[in-house]
Amino acid sequence: MPNLEINQLIDHTFSLQKSKSISLRESSSQHRIKQLENLSGWIKNHHEDIRKAIHADFKKPYPEIDITEIFVVTSEIKNAIKNLQDWMKPKKVSTPLTLLGTSSYIQYEPKGTSLIIAPWNYPFNLAIGPLISALAAGCNAIIKPSEMTPHASALIRRMIEELFEPDTVAVFEGDLEVSQHLLSKPFDHIFFTGSPSVGKIIMKAAAENLTSVTLELGGKSPAIIDKDIDLQDAAAKVAWGKFVNCGQTCIAPDYILVHSDVQSEFVNALRNELHKMYDPHKKGIENSSDYARIVNDKHLNRLSYLLSDAISKGAKIDFGGRILPKDNYFEPTLLTAITENMDVSQEEIFGPILPIIAYNKTDDAISYLNSRPKPLALYAFSNNQEVIDSILLQTSSGGVVANDCVIHFLHHDLPFGGVNNSGIGKAHGHHGFLAFSNEKAILKQRKGLTSSKSLYPPYGFAGKKITEALLKWF
Ligand code: NAD
Repeated sequence: MPNLEINQLIDHTFSLQKSKSISLRESSSQHRIKQLENLSGWIKNHHEDIRKAIHADFKKPYPEIDITEIFVVTSEIKNAIKNLQDWMKPKKVSTPLTLLGTSSYIQYEPKGTSLIIAPWNYPFNLAIGPLISALAAGCNAIIKPSEMTPHASALIRRMIEELFEPDTVAVFEGDLEVSQHLLSKPFDHIFFTGSPSVGKIIMKAAAENLTSVTLELGGKSPAIIDKDIDLQDAAAKVAWGKFVNCGQTCIAPDYILVHSDVQSEFVNALRNELHKMYDPHKKGIENSSDYARIVNDKHLNRLSYLLSDAISKGAKIDFGGRILPKDNYFEPTLLTAITENMDVSQEEIFGPILPIIAYNKTDDAISYLNSRPKPLALYAFSNNQEVIDSILLQTSSGGVVANDCVIHFLHHDLPFGGVNNSGIGKAHGHHGFLAFSNEKAILKQRKGLTSSKSLYPPYGFAGKKITEALLKWF
């Protein structure tokens, strides 16, 4: 469709949604639950279609699709349905002495018409996850899926068109031009998942309309491997967290900081795990159906550059390094002898290259982390509680997992999101509901101190005495 036509359709859909958002303010929990049940039903009935669409985009293995795209979404829906009545219930707050005689509570009002912009790496999960929170909160929404995963985007559009009227949920496929036109509209909330650099563009556009934002961004998430740990177990967890989805995961360990005493043992353990996971029959990892591909040529070239830049500056390949451009295949790759002037040390890798850097003392690892932007996730492997505690207390990140990787994403009651460069605001479960809700403060006057009007002008004796007493008490 030519851009002019899409823009007109966006304008029309946006105004439909804006009008509808007013009546949605009164939508009941039953209405919202019905929408969520319909969504869940469609997903369960079209399981195979979802698998095929995502596999067509970058050969994501079916078991990975089942867990990381479908299960996470259906379980998020189940959790929202189970808790929605409680989340929606107004929350009474206690009354301070000054306002004695009044009563107050917080009412959860839907923010209104929301824009959800999604990335390509978990194309279904990261478009529909935020939609679940939006619907639970009583919002309507426009979704802009990623242009890089056209099969998944078309499926999302089909699903939404079969389930919702455009005044409730609509999908606009397309690249940044479509995104930019959407961003010119005064949405009530924008939920963006993507890179920090585009996150800044989104926030600037949102500022024009003072639209609130949730920014789920990326960055370099480290894994720290202390010497006091079962190295084989840690290696298995790191290998899975890093190479699932071919390393194209926002919370994948971007690089390893390993205690120098155990560096070579840990690298060996990682090599073993990679053989076990992706090449158990020694037919070559490229023949494993359990290993996804790089999403497109642009990203394959970006990763090839990162690897050749590191090698030209002295990095050593300890595993992998093979690239088959015809199939967008990039072997799981371990790199040591890393230096700060390599681009792998500076940029988010977002692919199957794992730089391994040695440290001597926990404090050195902590200083290294604190000299960089705050990551989305941090993984700390140690059996020594003091080491874990000092990492927890002395560093800042969106989330931390002690002695595992990535699995915090599955916990509905943990706020998911970053901090500063890795994001603003939180998602999942109740936190997602709150992201799409205006926490409206409501105070009801009855016959309280402030209703005596003694504090109004002309300021007389009674008002003076009350003010004096207040200043003394507080
Ligand atoms: P991206 O920022 O390039 O694109 C994300 C979305 O923004 C896409 O829909 C794209 O069309 C749109 N977009 C791109 N440029 C735009 C512009 N100039 N103006 C308006 N819209 C624009 O990200 P990506 O490559 O799709 O995904 C990878 C990034 O996302 C990584 O940095 C990764 O860490 C991050 N990510 C974060 C999370 C999270 O939950 N925090 C999850 C997945 C991915």
